[in-house]
Amino acid sequence: MSKLNLSKTWNYAAATESTNHILLKEKYDLFINGEFVKSNSKKYFDTINPATDEVIAKISEANKKDIDLAVKSAKIAFRRWSKLKAKERGKYIFRIARMIQERAKEFAVIESMDGGKPIRESRDVDIPLAANHFFYYAGWADKLEYAFPNKTPKPLGVAGQIIPWNFPLLMAAWKIAPAIACGNTVVLKPAETTSLTALKLAEIIQESGLPKGVVNIVTGAGNTGAEIVNHPDIDKIAFTGSTNVGKLIQKSISGTKKKSTLELGGKGANIIFEDAAIDQAVEGIVNAIFFNQGHVCCAGSRLFVQESVANIVIEKLKDRMSSLIVGNPLDKNTDIGAINSKEQLATINKYIKIGQEEGGEIYQSKCSISKKGNWCPPTLFLNVSQSHTIVQEEIFGPVLAIQTFRTIDEVIEKANNTPFGLSAGVWTEKGSKIFKLTQELNAGVVWANTYNKFDPTSPFGGFKESGFGREGGLHGLKAYLKFE
Ligand code: NAP
Ligand code: MG
Repeated sequence: MSKLNLSKTWNYAAATESTNHILLKEKYDLFINGEFVKSNSKKYFDTINPATDEVIAKISEANKKDIDLAVKSAKIAFRRWSKLKAKERGKYIFRIARMIQERAKEFAVIESMDGGKPIRESRDVDIPLAANHFFYYAGWADKLEYAFPNKTPKPLGVAGQIIPWNFPLLMAAWKIAPAIACGNTVVLKPAETTSLTALKLAEIIQESGLPKGVVNIVTGAGNTGAEIVNHPDIDKIAFTGSTNVGKLIQKSISGTKKKSTLELGGKGANIIFEDAAIDQAVEGIVNAIFFNQGHVCCAGSRLFVQESVANIVIEKLKDRMSSLIVGNPLDKNTDIGAINSKEQLATINKYIKIGQEEGGEIYQSKCSISKKGNWCPPTLFLNVSQSHTIVQEEIFGPVLAIQTFRTIDEVIEKANNTPFGLSAGVWTEKGSKIFKLTQELNAGVVWANTYNKFDPTSPFGGFKESGFGREGGLHGLKAYLKFE
């Protein structure tokens, strides 16, 4: 085979996004009943820039008493909000969507500073998609009878919503927009390491004039989340996070009347057939596993390449990896930003070590990384099989496990041999193969000749240990309604 020589990469001059237009306070309090209020705990924790280790701001830690106040305010607000003319509800949600768009640049910069993701991604994916979710569900607010013909949809009450750190504003939008469009009120907790954009959203919500108490945003760590889950006046829990915490939540609410949707972990299979357009597929592999540093529940972290093209795909992939720029999340050239937290970096490194100890052959691109901050070079493993830990468990980082296959039935069996069932990708020029795989892969989303594409109109969610319930589209409305 002819040797590829793509390893000479271009050097780009820094193109750093300015931070002088953003407004950040030193301390953030809780957003309860339309006001920013001090926590009863009187405690604050630091939110850190994972690329520099610098403290960006102090965030309030909500305790049981604060959660009680937030739930009470949501319960009182529910009486009027659920009776408000649906068209009026829609107007508020449209207003929030437009205000996010107006302040998109500020949100993108803060998202990248707080969470470590490349500015290109927060600017082009996270923030526009968050606004789009509000636009989309604003449109449904006064059309619920059309969404569910011959039924009388009614809101559930107070929704407790708990979200992870990988898409902070976007996850808040996924949760809040459908809930309030249906006439529910909410108490939302962002993740400890990435509370800032949810708190900036609280500022927008306050400015938008949304009636007090319809959206409450409380910050804190896992204990704060557990207080929401266990509060007796919560009618529905909407959780996105790890499978382990999802299981804990399910145990805590069993035997109660609380409804729930759980969006949990994944170990997506990305499948490359020999008839795929190889260069596009290589770009697809990169996007599937290295987008957002691999902190993506639906990441294509298991790659299956048909044996006849395995050598060329792996060679091209290694070359492409060597040209990926790892570094300052605020630089517009950056492809891979900072790992979200020291804890997550330790988890990723633990799995990289296990991968090597179990006999995997590691390849990492040679990139220079800063001494400050949390970094992981793009990594792949060859010589692994179904029984390897790094093939079975979610790593949630830029680490790809590669296997080969010969037949379509073999790859379906291998792809489905996982406790998860969230996502998959198929690369082939044959429509018939795509249809067969979408039928037979046990995954909530199957992308064909693309990966990691999201749209508010399209439902998203998993099977097996990836959880249950769908967010997005009409399905996303259903999760916040009862039918009498
Ligand atoms: P996590 O540890 O489960 O945390 C998720 C949220 O739950 C955070 O806000 C966390 O608070 C809170 N929490 C922790 N312990 C809790 C408890 N006992 N009771 C109630 N809440 C609790 O997950 P993560 O590490 O943030 O996120 C990564 C995981 O999310 C991955 O497994 C990923 O696959 C999954 N995810 C799934 C989807 C999906 O749609 N299926 C989307 C995105 C991410 P603190 O973080 O503040 O401690
Ligand atoms: Mg942070």
